[in-house]
Amino acid sequence: MLLLTSDIMEFKSKITKLIKCGDNENNFQIMQFEKPKDFSFTSGQFIMVGCADFKLKTNPKLLKWSSFSVASAPFQEYFELCIRIHSTEGLTNHLGKKQAGDELIVKGPFGHFMLNNEFKEIAFIALGTGIAPLISMIRTLLHENDERPITLFYGFRNGECFLYEKELTELTEKHKNFRFYSVASHPGENWTGKKGFVQDLIKDTDFSSPIKEIHFYLCGIPKAIESINEFLIEQGFEKEKIFFEKW
Ligand SMILES: Cc1cc2nc3c(=O)[nH]c(=O)nc-3n(C[C@H](O)[C@H](O)[C@H](O)COP(=O)(O)OP(=O)(O)OC[C@H]3O[C@@H](n4cnc5c(N)ncnc54)[C@H](O)[C@@H]3O)c2cc1C
Repeated sequence: MLLLTSDIMEFKSKITKLIKCGDNENNFQIMQFEKPKDFSFTSGQFIMVGCADFKLKTNPKLLKWSSFSVASAPFQEYFELCIRIHSTEGLTNHLGKKQAGDELIVKGPFGHFMLNNEFKEIAFIALGTGIAPLISMIRTLLHENDERPITLFYGFRNGECFLYEKELTELTEKHKNFRFYSVASHPGENWTGKKGFVQDLIKDTDFSSPIKEIHFYLCGIPKAIESINEFLIEQGFEKEKIFFEKW
């Protein structure tokens, strides 16, 4: 992965808000924390997070750092991350035990997954916590009252793992040019929406522009992103207009 080496800052930041969500097996944490006034980043970029009380297993003198895409938009006064809390004893499990007021160590910004503004129509494809950099981009575009058509396709396991449902619904009510379609791969009994994969949603969607002109931004686990990329190319979308981040 390419890293930007200029303008990288490292600082301490207090957690201001924590929202836990998910089901018995899949735990997520939406976490907000302080952003220094002079910190600048672009939607789509990521930061690295460490905790003073969590060191490398192989070298207890060094911090364990992990990368997380910033889910908040640059205009917002805080950082927001959307993290999958793993059950094994790594950094995310440790972050899952933090409280508001606890301190993180943050450095960034990094990465080149950013919007190319030269699009007529844009589609985002998010899988699970892959929503993080994409909701940052959506928040930015809609905050700027961008009027170009914006579609989000969002795939997750079940309704409990549908992150940002309320905000996304509110955004569709406020912005006529924004719509989203969601799909659950393993829905429970309470799920009344679509079952399957994002490819099923895309097949059924009409776009405003000729398909060769639509820009796609994808984020999620590598295998799924690779197969969605191949699917989009097979469907006739333009390879050069498909951008992705996979982790
Ligand atoms: C650019 C980028 C952006 C990303 N954005 C996001 C995002 O927005 N949201 C998200 O959820 N994920 C994101 N990720 C993925 C995220 O960085 C990893 O999923 C996360 O670091 C994994 O953390 P972990 O808790 O599984 O384990 P790690 O801390 O990475 O450790 C891996 C495993 O090693 C063992 N281990 C490590 N350290 C210790 C220790 N000190 N003691 C005991 N055992 C240890 C544990 O078994 C652990 O499961 C992103 C990744 C990249 C590269």
